[in-house]
Amino acid sequence: AALGRLLTAGAMMGSMQKGEEDLITLQIKCSGPIKGLTVTADGKARVKGYVENPMVMLPPSKAGKLDVGGALDMGVLSVIKDMGLKEPFCGTVPLQTGEIGDDFSYYFMASEQTPSVVSVGVLVDETNEILSSGGFIIQLLPEATEEDISYIEEKIKDFPAVSSLIHEGTTPEEILKMIFDDVEITDRQDLFFTCDCSREKMINALSTIGKQELQSMIDEDHGCEITCQFCNTKYQFSEEELQNLINRL
Ligand code: ZN
Repeated sequence: AALGRLLTAGAMMGSMQKGEEDLITLQIKCSGPIKGLTVTADGKARVKGYVENPMVMLPPSKAGKLDVGGALDMGVLSVIKDMGLKEPFCGTVPLQTGEIGDDFSYYFMASEQTPSVVSVGVLVDETNEILSSGGFIIQLLPEATEEDISYIEEKIKDFPAVSSLIHEGTTPEEILKMIFDDVEITDRQDLFFTCDCSREKMINALSTIGKQELQSMIDEDHGCEITCQFCNTKYQFSEEELQNLINRL
């Protein structure tokens, strides 16, 4: 549930970037049992992510929901935007509730000075299988009036969970029209859960750990296996391949 909510935020914030190659990283470091989460997304809403400790099962929250706030507890949320400039932009805020939607509303206000409503949700069945996941971000333009703000607050107060709406087959366009009477669709973007890991990238990673470490992999383990933390693909490297790498270094 926590990862689904953060992936949803990532998919939306990824596609909000200007350039297709712009990369956004959402990172949570926290004291709760999940320990931390990382999600990256690009301008084409290609999103991937992982949690530090996926084996967390808590009793439901008081509201009878999956206790994401309890899994995260105290911590910080960082948003890193790499737009191909010298220095990436990085904004860090303390977690507010750990429910992720609230934390992003706070982030947008505190770090980007943009009042925003962020709703992200994951719906599961009785066996904790994911049924649906989704969300929305509403941001005020600078010329928004007090009236606009109270209109949105009123609409959002008792708004049904987006994940339930999606599960019932409501389209994003229909959800928008439930909030705003007058909607103009200016763009559409498909979302992709995908990983760009490769054997070449793993070799690059291996080459950074040093000859000595590589030699001990040969001597002690007769090879090595690297698992991509984003998609769990396993990459195996033989003694011979490690030796070749050492020779090249
Ligand atoms: Zn991968």
